[in-house]
Amino acid sequence: MLETGSAVKKIYKFGLLVLALLAVLVWIAVFSLRPQNFLRVNVLDVGQGDAILATTISGSQVLIDGGPAGGGVLRELSGQMPFFDRSLDLVVATHADADHIGGLVEVLARYRVKYVLTSDIPADTATFQAFSEKLAASGAHIIRPGPGMKIWLDNSTLLEILGPPGNFVPVESNETSIVTRLRYGRTAVMLSGDAPVAEEAAMIVSGRPLGADLLKVGHHGSKTSTSNEFLSAVAPGFVAISVGVKNRYGHPADEVLERLAAHGVTIDRTDEEGALEYQSDGVSLGKK
Ligand SMILES: [Zn+2]
Repeated sequence: MLETGSAVKKIYKFGLLVLALLAVLVWIAVFSLRPQNFLRVNVLDVGQGDAILATTISGSQVLIDGGPAGGGVLRELSGQMPFFDRSLDLVVATHADADHIGGLVEVLARYRVKYVLTSDIPADTATFQAFSEKLAASGAHIIRPGPGMKIWLDNSTLLEILGPPGNFVPVESNETSIVTRLRYGRTAVMLSGDAPVAEEAAMIVSGRPLGADLLKVGHHGSKTSTSNEFLSAVAPGFVAISVGVKNRYGHPADEVLERLAAHGVTIDRTDEEGALEYQSDGVSLGKK
């Protein structure tokens, strides 16, 4: 009898423990689902590459690029998204280079992705092959970019496609970068992929508004991007450079850092600070 009694007590204690754990999980879920009253932009720490997560006030999630394969995009996403959330509304593959789409293979395997914005320009690489196969198997709807295209992420947040503009014929991979401008209220974020100076110039000629509070600097701060003219047109308050620690390309280039400093912007770098977070309330954008 005594033994049965202690067994019942053990089951009772175990039951209480399970209930307590469930209560904690429910509270975490409730906390995670609370609507935020700002647009959140996380420049994730994926080493030498790009991966930017934007979360709108209604909880719509957009991932722009996924960094390189093994760059840690899944770890970074799980740090920013609720633990039970396994879906993304939109993924943008800016162009076919491995430091942008390598990690998207892992993302497409782990997350249910509703839409993928990607050009139909192929690349002769194993990474692009893996990305294409995973994309085809994922069931995501594919959106092909066009200049001037607008994608509403929710009632108040808009993603505009600015590049490559219609007057521009890309001759190399970086020039195929899909450049987007995320708009919420009076604020905007320019996400320029690896767009080089020639694509920047064509966007200026296209005449579309380029102004943004935050600029994700093109091509990891390479000297082939971020012209003075483009900086003047975008006129950002903040710039984010997504770049690997002591990378073999020497990014960001000193001359780009000097150019940015001359424009009086605040420079944030993932190689120095890790992941970066910005928030916009629709009136102004700031760094968290
Ligand atoms: Zn790149």
